[in-house]
Amino acid sequence: MDFEDTQDEAQFRSEVKDWLKANATPRSGDNRTGRAEQSEADLLAEAKVWQAKKADAKYAQITWPEEFGGRGGSPIQNVIYGQEEAKYDVPRGFFDIGLGMCIPTLMAYATKEQLGRYVQPALRGEEVWCQLFSEPAAGSDVAGLRTKAEKDGDDWVVNGQKVWTSGAHYSDYGILVVRTDPNVPKHKGLTMFFLSMKTPGIEVRPIKQISGGANFNEVFFNDVRIPDSQRLGKVGDGWKVALTTLMNERLAIGGGGAGPDYHEMMALARELELEDGPALRNALVRDKIADWYVRGKGLQYTRYRTLTALSKGQTPGPEASIGKVVTAPKAQDLASFAMDLQDMGGIMMDDDASPGSAAFQLSYMSAPGFRIAGGTDEILRNIIAERVLGLPQDVRVDKEVAFKDLPTGR
Ligand SMILES: Cc1cc2nc3c(=O)[nH]c(=O)nc-3n(C[C@H](O)[C@H](O)[C@H](O)COP(=O)(O)OP(=O)(O)OC[C@H]3O[C@@H](n4cnc5c(N)ncnc54)[C@H](O)[C@@H]3O)c2cc1C
Repeated sequence: MDFEDTQDEAQFRSEVKDWLKANATPRSGDNRTGRAEQSEADLLAEAKVWQAKKADAKYAQITWPEEFGGRGGSPIQNVIYGQEEAKYDVPRGFFDIGLGMCIPTLMAYATKEQLGRYVQPALRGEEVWCQLFSEPAAGSDVAGLRTKAEKDGDDWVVNGQKVWTSGAHYSDYGILVVRTDPNVPKHKGLTMFFLSMKTPGIEVRPIKQISGGANFNEVFFNDVRIPDSQRLGKVGDGWKVALTTLMNERLAIGGGGAGPDYHEMMALARELELEDGPALRNALVRDKIADWYVRGKGLQYTRYRTLTALSKGQTPGPEASIGKVVTAPKAQDLASFAMDLQDMGGIMMDDDASPGSAAFQLSYMSAPGFRIAGGTDEILRNIIAERVLGLPQDVRVDKEVAFKDLPTGR
């Protein structure tokens, strides 16, 4: 495991530091302060400006080839950029799905003309993309999806429903996986497309979340026509294409959430007075903080192993999939404890009255979603059990059965 940058990495880091210093505002140092007061529309507008700036400086997608606006850089340079950018107060999150999952899928399957049309506007933040995979009865088992497409001349006609589609309400385009053949086993009858979210017949209904926001949506398809030219991969190869997207998803979100952590917890414990004195002197509080510190260090060193592999040009090993399964429950536990510590104040989600703009409260509301998105805790544990520990596979009773013959309970 290497803890230090190589000479090249140190030079790249120094270039990134100089550029960020000249172009962005440093964070206040307290991760509890947020941008909760800004509307989503304002944040998106600000994010688009920042994204275009990054694209001009070739920092928007460092590992992409130069012909697509990247710099043909290494994954470790990408990590270095992320580490440095995290120190600055810049809007994040709107383009991760498009640039981390959708466009890489297009790069693998779209035509040269289509790439010429769609890659640059996505890279510059001018067009936002979403991922239309999950359905009410197909999440962990996404290959069980039921939205269907039937061929009609040069078009496909799509009917059905997706759910939990992050950002569908402000997205311009999406990638969509549908069932084109119910007569074969579930993984074999799927096909992937991309489409404009403004296509007639698409209805996007935002889902109100417990946190007050509405980041994801139900998306309904009523006789939506997609030209066959917008098919990604062969008819029936949708699962293979979806795996390209899902592998990129693991890489894109594997690093974990960005909510309050050990340092913010220390800051809160310093400020709070409990009945028996300052929270920081309370044995239980100290025990919990020490525990999170140890878990945080474990995650940090596990991440160093991934970074070392990347730095040496190797593919990271299974340790990369451990991050989320530890980070998300830790974030939830920490936020829950912080709210308990605030006593009655813990139930207030008030930017002005709650410590750190209610960042613990916000984290408490969003951490459960992080435990589900991109593979639930249970699914990730299954993966670790099967692929890391070599334990027997989960029982799969529907492997060779035609999708139409699967019992659905309906
Ligand atoms: C914040 C967030 C953003 C999202 N964004 C998108 C998006 O942009 N696009 C999109 O398509 N989807 C998105 N999703 C949906 C996400 O992919 C699904 O929620 C996820 O795959 C789980 O599916 P599900 O909700 O249907 O739960 P289910 O799959 O129904 O699971 C229910 C419970 O059963 C458990 N379970 C299921 N199968 C097994 C098994 N084999 N072994 C053990 N336990 C099992 C699960 O762990 C879970 O606890 C998002 C979800 C969240 C939370």
